[in-house]
Amino acid sequence: MSLSVSVRTVPFFEYPAFFGRQEAEFTAVITDVLRRGAFILQKDLFEFEAALANYLGVKHAIGLSNCTDALIVALKCAGIGAGDEVIFPSHTFVASPSSIHWAGATPVPVECGPDHLIDAQAIRKAVTSKTKAIMPVSLNGRTCAFDPILEIADEFGLKIVEDSAQALGSKYKGKFAGTFGVAGTFSFYPAKILGCFGDGGALVTDDDEVAHKAKLYRDHGRDDETGEVVQWGMNFRLDNLQAAILNLQFKDYDETIRRRREVASIYDLGLRDLPQLALPPAPDSDKDHFDVYQNYEIEADRRDDLRTFLKENGIGTLIQWGGKAVHQWEQLGFKVSLPETERMFERCLLLPCNLFVSNDDVRYVVDKIREFYTRS
Ligand SMILES: *Cc1c(COP(=O)(O)O)cnc(C)c1O
Repeated sequence: MSLSVSVRTVPFFEYPAFFGRQEAEFTAVITDVLRRGAFILQKDLFEFEAALANYLGVKHAIGLSNCTDALIVALKCAGIGAGDEVIFPSHTFVASPSSIHWAGATPVPVECGPDHLIDAQAIRKAVTSKTKAIMPVSLNGRTCAFDPILEIADEFGLKIVEDSAQALGSKYKGKFAGTFGVAGTFSFYPAKILGCFGDGGALVTDDDEVAHKAKLYRDHGRDDETGEVVQWGMNFRLDNLQAAILNLQFKDYDETIRRRREVASIYDLGLRDLPQLALPPAPDSDKDHFDVYQNYEIEADRRDDLRTFLKENGIGTLIQWGGKAVHQWEQLGFKVSLPETERMFERCLLLPCNLFVSNDDVRYVVDKIREFYTRS
């Protein structure tokens, strides 16, 4: 009989702690917005958009209802529609291809490389006469290596619409995720690195025409200056209250990133010598990449046993997206096999990586992982 008791619990993510960490400040912001009756398309939204555009060095940031809607808008603005094919990595959240589907086009899944991001050679192989765009997804807070992707886009005349939902603040060769193509898109889902108290998203672009169209799509096709309806639109607005919550947190965003990179470093130092694991690249291990660790995704031998062992020891982990790549959801009708991606999904595991874990929590996770591999 084992007498050991869990000395600590490290949940994967703590939703109540999100509010609890800064309760007084959040309450003040919410009260202020509600007292002003500032609900839809108000100053907090415009301030957030200006701050986001300024941070990324882009001309326009447009707050939208969520990132899935932002992707649909981005695709529509890029002129993607019926009869077009859009290439995306099957290692992603289903929102990436569902946006392609709802824009009226056909999503074409391809493999990911060793860094778990879209494989440029796989893109090249998937190009057909119908291909109109590529949707690179900068997962886990790491920007895709864009040089070869841009080269292929250039060679075949393809547009790039970025799913940068998980990558706000991350960079490739000094350039921010979300700024490489026609438009980039971000998610402010609560568990995202910059989260709000519900759903939220944004589209960013340097293109005046795309920005103008995106604003029309988000607000029923109404021109924001004249109020005239100039095309069919939707309701894709970001709530002003959510924007105010985002404004508050965005002030500390550099610190948020610093802390996530610190957590990643502790994992890296504690686990890098274990042959049973493949770790994400450590912060600063590659001069072309600046990673923000939206997630800390490892690959692990005997992944499911490890996960159970960690759970028994009070540690929450996550296998992303129900444990399947997009093309493996049979009801969606994909008829491909992508062995690299499928193998990755048998091994991948997200460890707790957020602002609520302490250094001791992270070291505890490290110790338990080491214990699992040394005793069994
Ligand atoms: C979260 C996420 C989305 C969807 O964002 P929502 O704001 O929830 O619509 C899309 N793509 C990726 C990679 C994501 O992680």
